[in-house]
Amino acid sequence: MPRNKATAKIVKSPGELIEMTPTPAPGSIAAHMESVIRQLGEDPTRDGLVNTPQRIEKALRYLTSGYQADPRKIVNGALFEVEYDEVVIVRDIEFFSMCEHHMLPFYGKVHVAYLPNKKVIGLSKIPRLVDAFARRLQIQERLTQQIAQTIQSLIAPKGVAVVCQARHFCMMMRGVEKQHSDAVTSAMLGAFREHKETRDEVLALMNHR
Ligand SMILES: [Zn+2]
Repeated sequence: MPRNKATAKIVKSPGELIEMTPTPAPGSIAAHMESVIRQLGEDPTRDGLVNTPQRIEKALRYLTSGYQADPRKIVNGALFEVEYDEVVIVRDIEFFSMCEHHMLPFYGKVHVAYLPNKKVIGLSKIPRLVDAFARRLQIQERLTQQIAQTIQSLIAPKGVAVVCQARHFCMMMRGVEKQHSDAVTSAMLGAFREHKETRDEVLALMNHR
């Protein structure tokens, strides 16, 4: 992030350097956030809020960094040819996302399974794929589908199953104010969609504790 102004340093007392806040660039997210803070009835110049607009911008850019992620680059060098043809499962992948309707967090766990067709993905790459789609403005249904479709297009397995359990702050803090309800979504492709037995088997493996 280019900073619009050089950070000025002023000496308050001998040996003490105080960092002065650069004013947010006009039109930047930080400048808009300063205006939001003011419209909420707060004083963006008071001590605790001085750098808040810049912090919000930084946080938002991180939380939406998935837009810059390229799934092919993520798995680059981690696609392997194998004879293995049993199901591969990565369970309990934590994720944090933001609902596109309220820009409030939703978070939870994703379970990813696929039935290889001569190709597998390095296991550590699967959580990174999840992050690439979670760090965007999302809805849980689309997040679930995108993870499944991406694995499908990367390695053309015989089947992909993705199950996502999440809690939504827009449900917990506002609206219906339900703190303990999980939303569950799933995406089933190929063999997991076509064969009930195969699907039941993978769901049992995902739930097995
Ligand atoms: Zn929402």
